[in-house]
Amino acid sequence: MSIAENYKEVRAQVEDECRRCGRNPEEVVLLAVSKTTDALGVDEARSAGAQDFGENRPDQLVEKFGAFPQLRWHFIGNIQSRRIRDIVPAAELIHSLYKPEHAVKINDDALAIGKVQQVLLEVNVSGEESKSGIAPDQLPDMLGAVLALPNVKVRGLMTMAPQGDLAVAQECFADLRKLAQSERAKMPADAAAAFDQLSMGMSEDWRQAIAEGSTIVRIGRAIFSDDFGR
Ligand SMILES: *Cc1c(COP(=O)(O)O)cnc(C)c1O
Repeated sequence: MSIAENYKEVRAQVEDECRRCGRNPEEVVLLAVSKTTDALGVDEARSAGAQDFGENRPDQLVEKFGAFPQLRWHFIGNIQSRRIRDIVPAAELIHSLYKPEHAVKINDDALAIGKVQQVLLEVNVSGEESKSGIAPDQLPDMLGAVLALPNVKVRGLMTMAPQGDLAVAQECFADLRKLAQSERAKMPADAAAAFDQLSMGMSEDWRQAIAEGSTIVRIGRAIFSDDFGR
């Protein structure tokens, strides 16, 4: 199948899964993770209706945003301080913020270009050493710090589940949802109203994520790889 066909197929599957879970398909963004493809691949997905794309490297984000400024570009990769200046002008939403010092720099760089940068806080729910993110018990302090920054808007939380066991992945997604709910309940009304996004679920485990309330599924291989079994 082509990238366009893959995209349409995954979109239809996501919509079916939403209905199966009693959810409105319009509340779930299918983020096409284009890190393994080039401008032609992006254009193919775009022609099939994709509007939101994810990149994990600043150079790729900047290049593809430059080529397709009408699309929404999300940054989902590891943040390095010296690259924040490049990421902020291009990113609709940064999914992977977990260090307080990066939040301060994002705020400064957003202010400098007259932008309010939307971010998600990445949480290491599973506690795996190989994963980045804030430990759940550190989340309240980090949220307090980020909510005080005028040019940063916190839209919600992001996580990556352990691979290999879908039941474990689903528990991890449920934990993120509960963390978001309990933090949201403590926020002032305006901050709580904006804190409505859960970025969770990838090619292997997006069904479990949708069942647990994901609003952004980040899908790479199922769209852009020829040999991903769907
Ligand atoms: C690559 C990547 C994805 C997409 O993974 P697939 O398994 O290819 O769907 C999602 N989220 C992040 C943070 C990634 O780096």
